[in-house]
Amino acid sequence: MTTEEPSAPVDFVRAKIIADNASGRFGGRVQTRFPPEPNGYLHIGHAKSIGLNFALASEFGGTCNLRFDDTNPDTEDQEYIDAIRDDLAWLGFEPDGVLYASDYFEQLYTWAEELIAKGLAYVDDQDADTISEQRGGFGQPGIESPHRDRTAEENLGLFRQMRDGAFDDGARVLRAKIDMQSENMQLRDPVLYRIRRSAHHRTEDDWVIYPTYDWAHGQSDAIEGVTHSICTLEFADHRPLYDWFLDQLDLPSDQPEQTEFARLGLTHTVMSKRRLAQLVDDGHVDGWDDPRMPTLRGLRRRGYPASAIRAFTDHIGVAKTNSTVEIELLESFVRTELNETALRRMAVLRPIRVVITNWPDGRVADVEAINNPQDDSAGTRPVAFGGELWIESDDFKLEPPPKYYRLTPGREVRLRAGYYITATDADTDADGNVTTVYCTYDPESEGGSTADGRKVKSTIHWVSAAHAVDRTVHLYDRLFADPHPGADGTDPMAALNPGSRETLTGVKAEPALADVVAGQVVQFERLGYFAADLDDQTVFHRTVGLRDEWANIQKRQGGKA
Ligand code: ATP
Ligand code: MG
Repeated sequence: MTTEEPSAPVDFVRAKIIADNASGRFGGRVQTRFPPEPNGYLHIGHAKSIGLNFALASEFGGTCNLRFDDTNPDTEDQEYIDAIRDDLAWLGFEPDGVLYASDYFEQLYTWAEELIAKGLAYVDDQDADTISEQRGGFGQPGIESPHRDRTAEENLGLFRQMRDGAFDDGARVLRAKIDMQSENMQLRDPVLYRIRRSAHHRTEDDWVIYPTYDWAHGQSDAIEGVTHSICTLEFADHRPLYDWFLDQLDLPSDQPEQTEFARLGLTHTVMSKRRLAQLVDDGHVDGWDDPRMPTLRGLRRRGYPASAIRAFTDHIGVAKTNSTVEIELLESFVRTELNETALRRMAVLRPIRVVITNWPDGRVADVEAINNPQDDSAGTRPVAFGGELWIESDDFKLEPPPKYYRLTPGREVRLRAGYYITATDADTDADGNVTTVYCTYDPESEGGSTADGRKVKSTIHWVSAAHAVDRTVHLYDRLFADPHPGADGTDPMAALNPGSRETLTGVKAEPALADVVAGQVVQFERLGYFAADLDDQTVFHRTVGLRDEWANIQKRQGGKA
């Protein structure tokens, strides 16, 4: 066998496929699958698995199916199937086929009878707790079930009765007869079938026995002709069982090969469906599509472009040890992409009024503002400018602290795409809060520069009061204050950030913001990127701020090394 040296370094998964192709193991065929259980919504961890499985298929000229691992009727639902298909399409992947493990229930049952006939499976009458106790533990012996040596005939009869509904839920299970002393707990006579009278979302009441994940997964791969079955590290010790089952059966295709890679974890969030469900159920977020959730639905509502998520999961690549990636890295992918694509607009989050005392009464000027400095083809837009404006309350101080270069009495600043203004005076309310700032403007400075080339130290954004539209804006902070919630063994929910959402109403926005479409992301100048809500376009979610926090983290890490 000759193995060609690959030109670029490849990860261990790709290296394996290259080696398999070189040895002719699957006749050069590459078939992968993404196998979600339809018991929740997809999160960004799933996006990593999706990206990998689809990339392998496309790089090696193969195929990738979406297969629902729908073997547990208690937790699964059609709602999740629909959502997963929708999210996958949104993420930009089209599966070669959409398949269901439940379509193989009859074949799986037939194979189970074959195992029984070979003396490799038996019906156990003990309850789940007893079976689990007898399994022992690492360095602890397992105890063989008293039913382990039933004859094949007796087992076959009992198993058929299980299928026919002769026994109560949980009264009996079918187990593989492998080795109760194995070092690998997965091989200590694992359960293949449980009795469960639950209506299945697809097979309805056809079955009262359901296969376990282990019995269904590898066989489903084999039925479909999967060559490379990619899963996450926690299944590494299931691999001998995956192979053992397949070794016993007459397969319709080559025996698939399981390869494990590290799960994606992100700082400041939780990733498992169980934890995400808890956030929803306990009311910490509004739902699975809350913009603070790491679900694809949440990120989508937040304004994360699917292409930025794909670029992120490609970038982190595959590894053999679990690690947690900084959420700032993901955000930097989002920011980089939005910088290229998002239109610039002006909105004032916490407005105070500016009156321009020398502005001609009733005059409205249309100033030209650049839509996207990164993209000339985005052009410019006229923005109405009048004698009364809104500016950010932060951008004016009656008594400026040191190094404050924005508006203050006697100081001149530039209004973005507008004019130079100089503050002359201000009104305050009874509590000393500024309510109105009085300014003069320089008529020669339209567009933001003057013939004498004089410099101003800052440029601030603004909205014409007569033309503003009122909007609601949600600002987001980390969902969990702790970067690794629950890592020290405490309840992760204790690390929730109570200030993860701040809602501002009465935000003043330029009129062009009335034209955004559902989900459109724009940059509010100086404030960040904001996505128009999918259902109500008068509501905006801050997707991400403008500051590149990832660059700072890298600098810090570089400094440490
Ligand atoms: P969870 O623990 O969140 O419930 P799961 O593994 O039970 O996830 P499945 O629906 O069974 O979810 O997963 C479908 C596929 O996605 C599996 O191959 C699984 O290994 C993979 N996957 C799930 N979470 C991650 C993750 N965080 N990183 C990478 N792959 C993941
Ligand atoms: Mg699972």
